[in-house]
Amino acid sequence: MAEDGLPHETFDVVVIGGGPGGLSAALNLVRARRRTLVVDSNRPRNAATLLARGFLTRDGISPLELRKLGRDEIERYDEGEVAFAVVEQVRALDGGGFGVTARGVRGAADIDVVASAVVIASGLAETLPALPSIRAYYGTQLHSCVECDGYEKSDAELVLIGETDDLAERALLLSQWSNDLIVFTNGVGTVTDDDERMLAARGVSVERRPIDDVVGERGVMTGVRLQDGTLIERVGGFIRPLWSPVLDYVDGLDLDRDADGLIVVDAKGRTSVPSVYAAGDSTPPGPQQLIVAAGAGAVVAAAVNRDLIGQSVAEVASVLAAPSQ
Ligand SMILES: Cc1cc2nc3c(=O)[nH]c(=O)nc-3n(C[C@H](O)[C@H](O)[C@H](O)COP(=O)(O)OP(=O)(O)OC[C@H]3O[C@@H](n4cnc5c(N)ncnc54)[C@H](O)[C@@H]3O)c2cc1C
Repeated sequence: MAEDGLPHETFDVVVIGGGPGGLSAALNLVRARRRTLVVDSNRPRNAATLLARGFLTRDGISPLELRKLGRDEIERYDEGEVAFAVVEQVRALDGGGFGVTARGVRGAADIDVVASAVVIASGLAETLPALPSIRAYYGTQLHSCVECDGYEKSDAELVLIGETDDLAERALLLSQWSNDLIVFTNGVGTVTDDDERMLAARGVSVERRPIDDVVGERGVMTGVRLQDGTLIERVGGFIRPLWSPVLDYVDGLDLDRDADGLIVVDAKGRTSVPSVYAAGDSTPPGPQQLIVAAGAGAVVAAAVNRDLIGQSVAEVASVLAAPSQ
């Protein structure tokens, strides 16, 4: 029973987010016989790409197919349920546990349930450099995850476009796949003179003039046009987006967050609020890979299950310790 006195469906765990982090947590929780609801707004960050790389046994799978396989695996268990909805609020209930409300998407019903524990796995939002056509090439010719998409770009004429101060480090990483690389700072990003010399020694150059747009023909990127009209021919490459978790729905919980807004967790995914856990890209260090998020989900599930056992043992102990009538 929630605070409004109305009966609400109860779950052992509500998992927020149906990416690899949340789905992996949920699969392991249902297998621990925990009644688990996954609530997913179904807007994954990687939806821009057609092929997901590097997930053992699923290299090259469509990211949407990977998630569908995950949802199907969970719903094969009586304990598992997946709903398409945007979680709007998670609130701590007076007697323990959490109320979770969500607005249905894709014609799905709204949700108002109670759970003993909550796993946050809602990933990150990303902001790309503000160039008019950049989205048109994102996920096909322009990518953000070097480890994920570097291989397919081996030895190609690449760009790295970003406005941050870690461009030299990312360019150095990228040079493992191609050193026919130009780093575009868009007049904003920082590359020190020392870093520029270090990159030049690897064949990588730095272009500091502001960009007008990424250009292409029939959806295929052909280059970068600068604001002074110069066209630099390039076939693709990488963007350095800004990443931030969108966690308004847990504002009332007062979770510890780091300087980037990511949810601080211990090695098992426990947050600073008891019975609230987090896994995947919304925890430090932020954007990783599918298999890393899935692994974190499995770690969290084991912690949730053990903590719930601990809670029920403590409840029994307090009943036994209470004076008999
Ligand atoms: C373009 C692109 C390509 C990539 N390619 C690869 C690749 O090839 N290989 C690889 O290993 N990694 C790749 N990645 C990285 C990978 O996608 C992420 O590391 C991984 O998806 C993180 O998993 P996650 O479960 O933490 O979050 P996500 O997969 O982002 O899932 C989070 C989910 O939470 C949902 N959500 C958010 N807010 C709410 C809310 N309020 N209520 C309910 N649901 C919510 C979102 O809709 C989403 O479905 C790529 C990333 C991008 C952006």
